[in-house]
Amino acid sequence: MTPTVIPTRLSLRNRTAAMPGIALLAGAILLAGAAAAAKSEAPPPGAPAYPVAKADKALRDAFALRTTGRTAVGTFGQAAIVAEQKRRAGVLGELTGTTFRLTETRHYLILGDADPAQAALFARWCEPLYANFAQLLGMDAGKRIWDGKCMLLLFNTTREFEDFARRVDGVDAGRWRAYYYLEDVNKEAPALLHLCFNLKAGDERTLQNLMAHEGGHAFFSVYQGKTRLPLWLDEGLAEYMTVYNEATLRPAKLALAAELAKSTPSLREFFERPANSVLTTEEYGLVFSLVDCLFETSRPKFKKLIDALKDGKPQAEALAAAYGFDFPELEKRWRAWLAAPSAK
Ligand SMILES: [Zn+2]
Repeated sequence: MTPTVIPTRLSLRNRTAAMPGIALLAGAILLAGAAAAAKSEAPPPGAPAYPVAKADKALRDAFALRTTGRTAVGTFGQAAIVAEQKRRAGVLGELTGTTFRLTETRHYLILGDADPAQAALFARWCEPLYANFAQLLGMDAGKRIWDGKCMLLLFNTTREFEDFARRVDGVDAGRWRAYYYLEDVNKEAPALLHLCFNLKAGDERTLQNLMAHEGGHAFFSVYQGKTRLPLWLDEGLAEYMTVYNEATLRPAKLALAAELAKSTPSLREFFERPANSVLTTEEYGLVFSLVDCLFETSRPKFKKLIDALKDGKPQAEALAAAYGFDFPELEKRWRAWLAAPSAK
């Protein structure tokens, strides 16, 4: 695993943090929890940004999979991958001086060194979340989205969480609560994901929302290939999953979007934002509302939009192919919808 880092956005402790200019560092995609509730605080323009740290090569090598069981016909040996993923418990134990226990579900592999009850919570949350993805996309829940299992790494202390992020993933997670990591963005490489959680980041409800948000990013980072979605859609889907998980968050997010709609004459610039731009809390409401509106208009069309984008179509073309209208029309409909969104 020799990932580079293409961060999109990060947020934590009720603020968003920028991570500009990353193509240089290229490789994996990380995202931190965006369940920000309070007023967001964007860093000043030109603030440095993406918190990179020097990885520990030996540890990183130890964490890397030794085999993917690749065959001549280009398929990966899923059992070999999962066996290697399980071996990572030992690496994590050495890194932290603790014991990481395994909890396995159909699509996820959970490694944690906290009270087993914590891992049990994640085990209880993750499969219904996966089922939600499948249901939203009209997808067979048995379909393979990633290789091996999606790993959930649960760190019992902030120090362990930050240590792992720095030494293995090569990022400074000092202000994050959680993030996801696509281990190799190369399309030919297996789609391997791990999500890291700082269990001290918040209460049970916060952790569940973080799981939904990061789980959403992780899912859509590899669903129908590794092509990256535009920022508004990537964050919008992650927020949509959070609200799907906790519906009581919806009115507040729509209210934020409505406020922003009043003060923003055009979303044109917004749709073009580079993937590493910073979103404010209000903009999280905005992206949620856009996805909510599009989903409500038509789920099959929404799926078509995602599929077209994943096929590499420019977003204007993808939107036209799926919904039959352009971005100005989407904005017009979104404003009308915001004035009277359906009550769910
Ligand atoms: Zn996010």
